[in-house]
Amino acid sequence: MSETNGIVISGMKYKESSKILTIYTKGLGKVTVLAQGALRPRSGVMASTEVFALSNWKLKKGRTFHYIESVDLIDSFYTIRDSMEKMLFGFYALELLDKSTPLEEENTVLFDLLEKFIRTMREKDRVLPLMVAYELKFASFIGYRPHLGGCVMCGNKSSEVWEFDHTRGGLICSTCRGRSRDSIFNEEVKEMNLLLMSKLEDVGEFDISDNTLWRMHNRMSDYLLYNLDIREMKSLSMIRQGQF
Ligand SMILES: [Zn+2]
Repeated sequence: MSETNGIVISGMKYKESSKILTIYTKGLGKVTVLAQGALRPRSGVMASTEVFALSNWKLKKGRTFHYIESVDLIDSFYTIRDSMEKMLFGFYALELLDKSTPLEEENTVLFDLLEKFIRTMREKDRVLPLMVAYELKFASFIGYRPHLGGCVMCGNKSSEVWEFDHTRGGLICSTCRGRSRDSIFNEEVKEMNLLLMSKLEDVGEFDISDNTLWRMHNRMSDYLLYNLDIREMKSLSMIRQGQF
């Protein structure tokens, strides 16, 4: 039996009244859990099986699934759903984590980042800077920290304008870059570094325009899809279509 905190990252109905959950836990990494009878009216575990819910889980490992010995809800984060933007950004973070992590590989840093992201999103009104900071930090924590300190090709530390090349993993200076669609000025490079290095609780207050943040998000999401070899993400497509 293992006891650990965990956040539900997806769930689907199974048979009459059960659910199969994917939970990202602090102590076990990503696990699949068969929540037997979760949908029965007085099951007592229903709230813990909702996506975004954070609970303390006591799990027993079976052959295919983990099973619930007992569970205590810590926070449902239900009000995330009050804002379409927060909900989509939340789903995006969950889908990213789900698609990029193997089962049962512990990574407490990723768990803490996710928990803090959801918690901070609930508390703040302006969440776009949070999402970009999450993308930058998430990339770094899974081993793909983008190179934002100079040119990835020649090492040049200064340039009037840069390009971000997601296949090369970072900035390219104006001498090395060929024809480019995306020009990044030094101010924006500074802002990306600031989002990467700052605490999530603080980034909402930064004076970075929404246009700039959307450009950063497009860059970072392309970068993540490329490096994690992800073809498609439902939540990301909806964000890109501006469905909120
Ligand atoms: Zn260069």
